[in-house]
Amino acid sequence: KEDFEARFRPPHVTDVFPHASPMPSTFCLKMRTPRTRDFPGKYPSSEEWHGYINDNDRVLLKTIYYSSPSSAGAECIDPGCNWVEQWVHRAGPREQIYFKPEEVKAAIVTCGGLCPGLNDVIRQIVITLEMYGVTKIVGIPFGYRGFSDKELTEVPLSRKVVQNIHLSGGSLLGVSRGGPGVNEIVDGLEERGINMLFVLGGNGTHAGANAIHNECCKRRLKVSVIGVPKTIDNDILLMDKTFGFDTAVEEAQRAINSAYIEAHSAYHGIGIVKLMGRSSGFIAMHAALASGQIDICLIPEIPFNLHGPHGVLNHLKYLIETKGSAVVCVAEGAGQDLLQKTNATDASGNIILGDIGVYTQQEAKKYFKEIGVHADLKYIDPTYMIRACRANASDGILCTVLGQNAVHGAFAGFSGITVGTCNTHYAYFPITEVISHPRLVDRNSRMWHRCLTSTGQPDFV
Ligand code: ATP
Ligand code: MG
Repeated sequence: KEDFEARFRPPHVTDVFPHASPMPSTFCLKMRTPRTRDFPGKYPSSEEWHGYINDNDRVLLKTIYYSSPSSAGAECIDPGCNWVEQWVHRAGPREQIYFKPEEVKAAIVTCGGLCPGLNDVIRQIVITLEMYGVTKIVGIPFGYRGFSDKELTEVPLSRKVVQNIHLSGGSLLGVSRGGPGVNEIVDGLEERGINMLFVLGGNGTHAGANAIHNECCKRRLKVSVIGVPKTIDNDILLMDKTFGFDTAVEEAQRAINSAYIEAHSAYHGIGIVKLMGRSSGFIAMHAALASGQIDICLIPEIPFNLHGPHGVLNHLKYLIETKGSAVVCVAEGAGQDLLQKTNATDASGNIILGDIGVYTQQEAKKYFKEIGVHADLKYIDPTYMIRACRANASDGILCTVLGQNAVHGAFAGFSGITVGTCNTHYAYFPITEVISHPRLVDRNSRMWHRCLTSTGQPDFV
């Protein structure tokens, strides 16, 4: 046990905030019921919750069998063991809580791009905080920028303010990229007396949230920093699904359907739809599968050629000659190797991608002109329409549960965590474990093969 404690103590747990972080979550088989190192909170929780989650409750992330103990290497604590299980803490209300509700000042901030469901999460965080008895709740306007820009003042939030905000898309608080450094943000937290910070954003925002958490530990501040992953692309590691994804797939189908109708109503019609997905093609793959109207689905994970006998354009020619029309969906991050690199970055330092949708359309136009085949091309880019949508029913429910669990996590005394679903259970994940790289479509997965079967597309390399 001592060995285990020494080995797996997360670097950012401090004596000031002993409840600060969940385990890094690697256990040998013999540790199937791991001992928690979390201390119970000191204060009784609200009686509103129908039952509590025990601090020992875990959700199984995955089980890894290594071919031999030596290949398991440092993953196993127990000599001779070749089976490792990874667990995360179950999300939900605890019977004993770490903060006195009357001493809490909670802040919510939304960063990065828009995503359906942001308002649903804000709303639910506010409502849940109020149910705990918290009265000081504020919104930080326009992302992390709101911590440093003196012209931006915090927005007081209450159930009354947020009651109907989920009925429209966007973020009540506004979003932004770039902004102040971590020291300035933590100075802002100190000045404003904030001791719970809910951060809604993507990988960049979460990297920021983790840095804020570390800086708070360094300054020995009792601040709980809780993330709620916002990525329409569904590209967060270890999580089943992130909010906004379902809505995005549903909305993407409208664009696909329009492209399909345009293509089918024209002589040799070709519809090209660009969908979101900077590094992961989940939206394009799922929208293609859901619609059944896509002939070619191009995603960042799978390289392709436009030209040549095995290229996309040659296949398009085959499709219009045999079927009479064709519909292509292309994820924004697909085929970046075909475009000229600019090295341009946005305010947050993200590389600005080349426009593969426009490029594909232009190359197709040139190609059909050169070979003397008539083709009627229509290009649809629904990105901003999709991002600005209101969350659909399934995302609305997901947002509600995530928002509630974010607050429960803060009251349980966690920090440096983010909330998500894992194997259908709601759980708290250490931020560092989910942001190391984006989750990608596995080209050998059954889902991708189902997509290929559905589109009937060949290999374009
Ligand atoms: P999206 O999925 O919409 O891109 P995101 O959260 O990744 O969401 P970014 O614009 O990359 O969006 O980042 C949002 C905020 O997080 C910005 O204010 C940025 O300054 C901050 N940020 C990004 N990367 C880091 C990092 N590595 N460390 C600290 N802060 C970061
Ligand atoms: Mg990002």
